[in-house]
Amino acid sequence: MKLQRVLQYAKYLLSESIEKGEIAVDATAGNGHDTLFLAELVGEDGHVYAFDIQQEAVDATIAQLKENGLEHRATVILDGHEHIEKYVTQQIAGAVFNLGYLPGADHGIITKSETTIRAIESLLNLLKINGLIVLVIYYGHEGGKEERDAVIDFVSQLPQKNYNVLRYEFINQKNDPPFIIALEKKK
Ligand code: SAH
Repeated sequence: MKLQRVLQYAKYLLSESIEKGEIAVDATAGNGHDTLFLAELVGEDGHVYAFDIQQEAVDATIAQLKENGLEHRATVILDGHEHIEKYVTQQIAGAVFNLGYLPGADHGIITKSETTIRAIESLLNLLKINGLIVLVIYYGHEGGKEERDAVIDFVSQLPQKNYNVLRYEFINQKNDPPFIIALEKKK
């Protein structure tokens, strides 16, 4: 027995909810690792929409896709995820967020509770039944705990009738390790 680590479990959850030919969203493209992972999951007939507000992240994500010959499977958008509905109108199978700052870049450019919650609301509207939104919550940085608390407050109040809300977290680890919130849309 080995408990799945947080990043591994996030990928497992996404792979269980997204099928070939479907649409997925990377709400925080960052260095592009999750965009690439989603592009593999959706296959040749699916598509990924990835968002980031930093040109550096958009460039890194496109480079990551190109290196793997999958750039045609994704649209990488330089805009905030709070504007998702401007770009995505189809039903989506799954979405992922990595909250916090882009490692190796400006630690002052972080995801923020208000826009994160607005994006979650938009994605919940677009999500298919049994689809999943996976949030990897990093909160060790300045401003991180405020965002964590606001997101937890918001998702805790989603009606049980419509959503299953999961928290997956190692609670005895030091140094504010990330944890997962997963939102599943019910019938
Ligand atoms: N903390 C994670 C990585 C987070 S990356 C880790 O250590 O692996 C978070 C990304 O979200 C950054 O690239 C940042 O530019 C982006 N971001 C911040 N606000 C955003 C917004 N409103 N819309 C889309 N992306 C945003």
